[in-house]
Amino acid sequence: RAIVRDIDMLGEQNPSIKPKPTAEVDPTVFEKRFLKKVRDLGEGHFGKVELCRYDPRGDKTGELVAVKSLKPENQQEQSTNLSREIDILKALFHENIVRYKGICQEEGGQAFKLIMEYVPMGSLKDYLPRHKKDTSLATLLSYSVQICKGMEYLGSKNYIHRDLAARNVLVENERMVKIGDFGLTKSIKDNEGYYTVKDENDSPVFWYAPECLTQCKFYLASDVWSFGVTLYELITYCDSSKSPMTCFLDMIGRTQGQMTVMRLVKLLNDGRRLPRPDGCPEPVYELMRKCWEQKPDSRITFTGLIKELSNMQQ
Ligand code: ADP
Ligand code: MG
Repeated sequence: RAIVRDIDMLGEQNPSIKPKPTAEVDPTVFEKRFLKKVRDLGEGHFGKVELCRYDPRGDKTGELVAVKSLKPENQQEQSTNLSREIDILKALFHENIVRYKGICQEEGGQAFKLIMEYVPMGSLKDYLPRHKKDTSLATLLSYSVQICKGMEYLGSKNYIHRDLAARNVLVENERMVKIGDFGLTKSIKDNEGYYTVKDENDSPVFWYAPECLTQCKFYLASDVWSFGVTLYELITYCDSSKSPMTCFLDMIGRTQGQMTVMRLVKLLNDGRRLPRPDGCPEPVYELMRKCWEQKPDSRITFTGLIKELSNMQQ
């Protein structure tokens, strides 16, 4: 102690040897050289996600993180989307939304990566088919409530997700899920209440409400429609032979390109919907149907869904 005091006094007397405070380290900036790839986690339309260890000490004690980058072929046209995704995710704090951790800048170049928390059990689409036996209907309903809570929060921030689907919901553990992938998320202007798509190539059509397909308009209620399709996926345990795409294609016949969307629109306008999956209780199917009302205004809201789904769990 005496020595410390002496040094302090020395510093006071002689400012030139006073220890400089260490430079403020920004915990959201990850250095590329410390990011060690462990394995691939998955990929979607534009991006690819890897499990990495951030190990500045180089002794394998560093934390595991999920690192999202754009596929090389998309780097040019999608980089504004990834930076938008980063900006949106940065400002979201909810237990059912994947947590943003930071970014990693590519040396010299323009490219960068999104660093987020690692959600260990992968997407519901990978998880559910393998854990059918240990996942009860009550658990599926609990996941559904959690997704709705994340979506209600997102809506309260005036964002529309536009890509809600089981492949974009991540499993933290047997009891908890989080919404991931905000790549298509858009901010809605308060006065308009919807977002207009300019790029039709990125539409996951079988999850889309009629107004998205016909007018390229996205409302909060369009996310509710997609939630209904996601609920359908959950109840089928993401069995690919019953997937929304498989079912709709069975209904409209297998066609090419634009014809598919045209026939899908016709089918929806005729009031036809995905069927009630085997083993799906009638009240749960009724909720799906409330998500799939033709007019956006007539659909149930996320708040309404939380209420009804919570009641069903008891
Ligand atoms: P894209 O925008 O290309 O669709 P996603 O963000 O959906 O990319 O990620 C693709 C896949 O990577 C997901 O379906 C999931 O399996 C996996 N993944 C994404 N983020 C994480 C994460 N934070 N932790 C674990 N796995 C993840
Ligand atoms: Mg995705």
